[in-house]
Amino acid sequence: MRNKDILEQMTPYKPGKRIDDVKNDYGLNRIVKLASNENPYGCSDQVYTYMAGATIPYHFYPDGYASELRKTLASKWHVSEKQLLFGAGTDEIVQMIARAFLYPGANTVMAAPTFPQYKHGAWIEGAEVTEVPLIDGYHDLSGMLDAIDDRTTVVWLCSPNNPTGCAIPENDFYTFMNACPSDVLVVLDEAYYEYMSKDADPHVLNNLDKYDNLIVLRTFSKAYGLAGLRVGYGIASESLIKKLDVIRGPFNVSSLAQEAASVAIQDNVFLEQTLQNTHAIKNSFEHFLDTIGWQYYDSETNFLLISTPISGTRVHQHLLENGFIVKAGEDIGAPRTIRVTIGEENDMEDMKGVLRQMNGKLDKE
Ligand SMILES: *Cc1c(COP(=O)(O)O)cnc(C)c1O
Repeated sequence: MRNKDILEQMTPYKPGKRIDDVKNDYGLNRIVKLASNENPYGCSDQVYTYMAGATIPYHFYPDGYASELRKTLASKWHVSEKQLLFGAGTDEIVQMIARAFLYPGANTVMAAPTFPQYKHGAWIEGAEVTEVPLIDGYHDLSGMLDAIDDRTTVVWLCSPNNPTGCAIPENDFYTFMNACPSDVLVVLDEAYYEYMSKDADPHVLNNLDKYDNLIVLRTFSKAYGLAGLRVGYGIASESLIKKLDVIRGPFNVSSLAQEAASVAIQDNVFLEQTLQNTHAIKNSFEHFLDTIGWQYYDSETNFLLISTPISGTRVHQHLLENGFIVKAGEDIGAPRTIRVTIGEENDMEDMKGVLRQMNGKLDKE
């Protein structure tokens, strides 16, 4: 068939192992999934309470304008309603951007390693991808500026970066924005925004007016715990949003997802509890890693990228056999690491035990 040639050179997204399969394969009763940076505390109870009583007309298409969620977010972030774009997860917004701005002959610049969907989207559109290696887990912004040429249409900044967790320092970000050609779209993916410490937040929404070529991406999948419902959004100038809105499917965010997100965003108690727990457990886990001498990157997120003394694949396998699903760095462009989502306290304590024992055996080898 006469499809795009690139499709034969690419592979579909490989989903992580299913919990039930891991249980069967290793004869385990309980599995802790720490591979996709989901919220281990679930989502706000108010979402379940609301949903139980809600009579959403499932036979109607959803509100294609997501009016209620739009109003809520516009007032929360002090932007106009026309500055928002919704997607079935941020993933879909990444696709819309690729579709609108990337084409054969265009070039796009991103860090390496970073969130894989940027490259995936770019390849499908036939654009050339320029990857600029991270420096100690951080974006090399001057290297990225140098990589921009007159064919560059999009630069992807992931802050905090997946998989390292490092956030771009505020000053560096604005220096970059001021030096970047104004006809190059800059995508600032803040999927882990809520987890960032106050000091790390570049308050980019306060400065959106200055940069017509900037779009900020946020999601309900991580700190709000709604990954299964698929809601993400972009915030940018009205003129940019209007262009991307041409690409968007008319009913791309389901009614259920819109309603759940509108409820979830109101529950600050749940959010704060998530952030507090994650922060405390992450600190404690970092402390443990210090004691066994394993290094990790500065993380402003709910996960840690940890350097491993043997291949990440082997550590991943050992953890799997003990009931923990984590990401092997070899699968995400970060060899000799594992990426671990910060789970609940007891689970992280158990994992410390498994790693301590494993590390002890390595010392003897
Ligand atoms: C998880 C993640 C996303 C995707 O989130 P969805 O809204 O669930 O599609 C986007 N960017 C980064 C960096 C992520 O880690």
